[in-house]
Amino acid sequence: MKVVLLEYTRNPETVCAVAALTSMKEGTPSDMLKEIDEDNAKKRIQRVVGYGHYSVIEHANFTFSIEGISRACSHQLVRHRIASFTQQSQRYVKMEDVPFVTPPSIKKNKSAEEIFKNSLKETAETYKKLLELGITPEDARFVLPNATKTNLVMTMNARELLHLFNLRCCNRAQWEIRDMAWEMLYQVLDVSPALFETSGPKCISEGICTEGKSSCGCYKLFEGKNIDQRRIIVKEFYK
Ligand SMILES: Cc1cc2nc3c(=O)[nH]c(=O)nc-3n(C[C@H](O)[C@H](O)[C@H](O)COP(=O)(O)OP(=O)(O)OC[C@H]3O[C@@H](n4cnc5c(N)ncnc54)[C@H](O)[C@@H]3O)c2cc1C
Repeated sequence: MKVVLLEYTRNPETVCAVAALTSMKEGTPSDMLKEIDEDNAKKRIQRVVGYGHYSVIEHANFTFSIEGISRACSHQLVRHRIASFTQQSQRYVKMEDVPFVTPPSIKKNKSAEEIFKNSLKETAETYKKLLELGITPEDARFVLPNATKTNLVMTMNARELLHLFNLRCCNRAQWEIRDMAWEMLYQVLDVSPALFETSGPKCISEGICTEGKSSCGCYKLFEGKNIDQRRIIVKEFYK
């Protein structure tokens, strides 16, 4: 899997800070944009995110290229409705080679890995045979499994990203979408620390776990730890 932050709103913190100021001050947003400095914008964003005034951070958009995830993972990802997606089409793209994702649990188990690989090899051969028989890719793809790799472009605003990180960086999310979400989190954190400095699963961002009996329990190890250390604890919990 590869996650690349392709583009994002230029000066995301300033744009969102101007939106926050617009709701509270006389004057025009374009004048505020000229007057506000970076430091001021950062502080304002920290304050509004702290208050939970999240609508102002919807003005910052982030576009990712998400490459080589399984169709199982992409299906989970597109359940997040406040986003734009463009996915490689299995209707129009005739795959010469059918690439697959192997789950780590299967990779670790030699016998399981052999069964998995044989099954996928047979599937890839069936797909190719169907194409050779003149079946269109859109119909031949009916034999392809959840493991099939896909690529997509996704654009999401900062508010929805915080929500995605809450749900998908959590240890209750499946390993693949969880790895993807952490990768996205670190990349947006790099370009916009004020927007994302408290982001992560709920145990990090809100200091609570709502998973009940299914909780991984990692939050119990947080005492005395700063947010970076807490992120490491959550990520390493099952390793
Ligand atoms: C650990 C885990 C297990 C899961 N298991 C399952 C499962 O077994 N089966 C299954 O079907 N799904 C499952 N899901 C997917 C889950 O149900 C959601 O579809 C997915 O996480 C997207 O999140 P969301 O619906 O909060 O919001 P998004 O689509 O990301 O929307 C963000 C927010 O906008 C608001 N919103 C969006 N659309 C509406 C609307 N139509 N009406 C009102 N408010 C709206 C809500 O507040 C929502 O939280 C699972 C998710 C996780 C993280």
